Amino acid sequence: MSSSEASISIAHLVQQLAKMSAQREQNELEHSLLELISVLLPDHRIRFYSLRGNDQELQVHLLHRLDKVDGYRKASTGWQPPDELMRQAILRSDDDPTPWHLDGQTWQVIRQRNRRMALLLLEGQPLDEQEQGFLAAIVLIHENYLRLLYDAERDMLTGLLNRRTFDNRLYELLSMPDSGYSLALMDIDHFKQINDRYGHIVGDEVLLRISQLMTSTLGQKARLYRYGGEEFAAIISPRTSDVGELLELLKQTIAETVFPQVGQVTLSIGHVRIERQPLPANVVEQADKALYFAKEHGRNLVADYASLQQQGLAKPDSWPQGDIELF
Ligand code: GH3
Ligand code: MG
Ligand code: MG
Repeated sequence: MSSSEASISIAHLVQQLAKMSAQREQNELEHSLLELISVLLPDHRIRFYSLRGNDQELQVHLLHRLDKVDGYRKASTGWQPPDELMRQAILRSDDDPTPWHLDGQTWQVIRQRNRRMALLLLEGQPLDEQEQGFLAAIVLIHENYLRLLYDAERDMLTGLLNRRTFDNRLYELLSMPDSGYSLALMDIDHFKQINDRYGHIVGDEVLLRISQLMTSTLGQKARLYRYGGEEFAAIISPRTSDVGELLELLKQTIAETVFPQVGQVTLSIGHVRIERQPLPANVVEQADKALYFAKEHGRNLVADYASLQQQGLAKPDSWPQGDIELF
């Protein structure tokens, strides 16, 4: 390779790196990773798989592919068990994170917070030492960016998604004609007393434990957010047949849990179906009104905005605004 060829490819590499560093979304970050690798290894076919499951029940999902002939293509095969070679490549990476080459295929696992989360498959010539070094460095940069993305989306204390991620998601859902999703706002009852009596650290423990109980109770049916302070939001999937029943179960689960030192803690919940609105704030306001009703009617209660409205109990103009602390 002449020195000018070398400098062109280095310039190209750095440009692709700069492009990758500009991505703020996981899917785009992955696409950038493939483009970057293809600058380094233009003759290889590159595939990117998402990974899930434990050693016994591994599953892979092809998400992106790139080769010289077709260029970049998004793929979606759905989740399936890996073939035997792929399984070996994945399991082997726990002991040796470097690329693994066998039969014209090079495998590289991508990790996040010590978990295997994706797999790169490069088909073509075995990589020389320098190429292996480049690939390892590129994957490390990718993992670092993934970590940044992860942290930017989450709340530090509870590990739930944060308010900013909530706002973005709600905005997305509100642009759909009829998303079928529901929004629940959940506020811990008399939480200030817990802080006052037992101190902030115990208060933090309660927030963490409640987040865990919410996550395990709602499972795949909802995405959970720390909305602010001692207030949480859930965006509930359209596949949930009875949202009220699910939230009753959550309310019950929390009320039946004995929290160390503190004893019983309860939740008030307001929920509403997410429908297209002129302003995203409206749907939050509706859930908040239902939450306010639950607070006013004894707490440890689930209230549904639609039924309050039907019963004439939700009177938008006559209700005090902003009484529930949202932050
Ligand atoms: P209500 O039943 O009406 O919701 O009463 P409440 O006491 O739960 O509500 P209030 O809004 O009066 O108090 C909320 C408290 O939550 C006040 C604030 O200090 C506390 N808080 C907010 N964020 C945190 C946090 O991260 N950790 C801890 N320990 N406390 C927090
Ligand atoms: Mg509260
Ligand atoms: Mg509150």
